[in-house]
Amino acid sequence: MTNAEVLRNQKIGPRVVEALKKRHFEAYYCDTAQEAKVKALSLIPEGDVVAWGGSVTLEQIGVIDELRSGKYNVIDRDTAQSGAERVQLMRQALLADTYMASSNAMTEDGQLVNIDGNGNRVAAMIYGPKNVILVIGMNKVVKTLEDAWQRARNLAAPTNVQRFGLETPCSVTGSCADCTSPDCICAYISTIRVSRPAGKIKIVLVGENLGF
Ligand code: SF4
Repeated sequence: MTNAEVLRNQKIGPRVVEALKKRHFEAYYCDTAQEAKVKALSLIPEGDVVAWGGSVTLEQIGVIDELRSGKYNVIDRDTAQSGAERVQLMRQALLADTYMASSNAMTEDGQLVNIDGNGNRVAAMIYGPKNVILVIGMNKVVKTLEDAWQRARNLAAPTNVQRFGLETPCSVTGSCADCTSPDCICAYISTIRVSRPAGKIKIVLVGENLGF
């Protein structure tokens, strides 16, 4: 990460935190991935059942490894022995106490945009878990809501499709074709404007470059 990027994030990060607070999110800015990991884990109330949505960010900064360390009471769909059990665990995650994830894009004025194939991640962010912790790299912060939708549709989705090995037009071309294919991971697209109730959604911004 260049000095210029660090400076950009340090300058805009606190302003984004203030914008988030005006929308009733709890919000924090951390310069490094390590700081962000510690902050995110500190926001889990003791004794909570914790679940999480698929997130490269949470994996990159070490949160998933920590959740699986045995210190937490977790619902981990990757422990499922069958497809049916995995679905069952994903359904149970909707009623976890704390839910952790990232976001596909965020605006400078504090609105979140997310795309989802199954809808479980966006559903849990919105309703069910009483405590939602989102760790978001500053590379995902863009100017406007239109920019956020563009990032989600034209960068995040075509990239995630490659990770999941799905059969969509963007898996072939790398570019969104606004498809309606059965494998479409843009089935559910959400905008979160405000945390309601206040403080339910907690956001940890990461200044260090997390890549994607
Ligand atoms: S082609 Fe389909 S799956 Fe790929 S980004 Fe566009 S809508 Fe989403």
